[in-house]
Parts: sequence; C-alpha cells; structure tokens
Amino acid sequence: MRKKIAAGNWKMNLNAEQAQGLVSEVMGKFTSEINNQVEVIFGPSALFLHQIQHLAKDHAQFHVAAQNIHQAPKGAYTGDIAASMVASLGCSHVIIGHSERREYYGESNALLAQKLDIALENGLQPIYCLGERLDDREGDNTFAVVSSQLAEACFHLSAEQFGQLVIAYEPVWAIGTGKTASPEQAQEVHAYLRSLIADQYGAEIADNTSILYGGSVKPGNANELFACPDIDGGLVGGASLKSDDFCAIIAALG
Ligand code: PEP
Repeated sequence: MRKKIAAGNWKMNLNAEQAQGLVSEVMGKFTSEINNQVEVIFGPSALFLHQIQHLAKDHAQFHVAAQNIHQAPKGAYTGDIAASMVASLGCSHVIIGHSERREYYGESNALLAQKLDIALENGLQPIYCLGERLDDREGDNTFAVVSSQLAEACFHLSAEQFGQLVIAYEPVWAIGTGKTASPEQAQEVHAYLRSLIADQYGAEIADNTSILYGGSVKPGNANELFACPDIDGGLVGGASLKSDDFCAIIAALG
C-alpha cells in the first residue's frame, strides 16, 4: 500500500535556531498521535541537515530530505553537495527537479535523470517534482509537459529503482502564489501520471507510488485535496514553515 506523506520544503528560509524550534514543535505535537501510515519529511537547508536529522532519527515516521544534490559522486564542484554526503548523515530523501531548480538553475530532464541515478545509488529516496507552467496549462499542454518530465528523467530506471521514488506534481503557477489547483485539476493530473507509471512499470508499482500534490497547500485546502483518490499527500512550501499550519496539513492526511 502506498504511503501518505507530508513533506515540507523550507527552501532558503529559517536560521539554525528557528529550524530546530520548528521541528521540535511539530514532533512534540505529533509523536504520539500521528496516524502510523503517515510519513512526515522535513526539507531544511543543507546547512541544517545534520541537526534536523539528529532530532528526527529515533522517530520512525519522521524523515529528513535534502533540497538538492549534485549529479557527480564527488569532485571539484565548489559549494555543491554530493548524495553520499547527505546519505552519510542518515538522511533518507532528496528533492529533485523542483521547479525553482529547473527555472533558476536551468536543470533539464536529462540532468535530473543523472541526479536520480546518483541519489538511488546512495540509497536516498528521491522526491521527484514535475509540473506545468501557466502557459502550458493555458495552451492545453499540461499532459504533454508532465509526461515528458516523467519519462525523460525517470523511465530509464528499473522497476525496482522506480519503486523508490516519490513523485510530486507541482503546477508551477500554484507554487508560492496562493493559487491552488482545484482538487479536480490536481486529481486529473495525478491519475494521468499514475496511468503513465502503470504503462511503463505495471499496475502494482503504479498503485504503490505515492504522488504528492504541491502548490499553495494550506490547512484550508488540504482536506479536499487529500480526499482525492490519487493524491497521497503534499509537498508543502510556505505552510511548512509554521508548525500549526504544517501540523494541520499532516492531520488532514488522516
Ligand atoms: C514548493 O515549494 O514545493 C511549494 C509547493 O511551495 P508553496 O507550498 O509555498 O506553494
């Protein structure tokens, strides 16, 4: 059975003290009452991965994700972070293909394919993000865009490797804008992605793949989004920075 997941992408926000405070508040609230089918993932700045992993490590439902890795195993890449470094801290996940990385750093599907490979080689579970821009949606190209983002970055993987992935559908026009895809719009794309996965890897892997929705998820819209049959949780930006909001979103997962 696929997991329900609430993942927080903190982006370039919070200092060390704030990061620690946020995690302590969320964990304090949920350690005893969180539904044991739900997985919670914190995505701090790379600077705080060690500190946050230390807080989360003894709690099976809490996990820590890096926001990015380099595609090479190691080398002369000043300022970058290798998958093996993230894994050596005990962190379990890495966000790959976020639209901000695609847009500001020119990350292509081909590059993201390499990042997925190195993540998997190092035992990290990728949260692979994809989603259309506003002009794609308005031009009726949503399915074509998400299908190439999925196929070009992921479909070289074996079924066993693909089974390690979490997919996050994040329409670019909904990220950080306060505009959320309607549950119908999100469900339509999630069901489409699951059908592509089924065509490539079979129904069992498709059924077991968690597909998260991201794009202005808030306590006020989480319930109706998560009630959709193919939405298995959220990748949450702004609302993951406030413990009350993030806890309410986790609670919406049931
Ligand atoms: C994100 O950054 O992945 C995201 C979904 O941000 P927000 O929730 O702020 O739209």
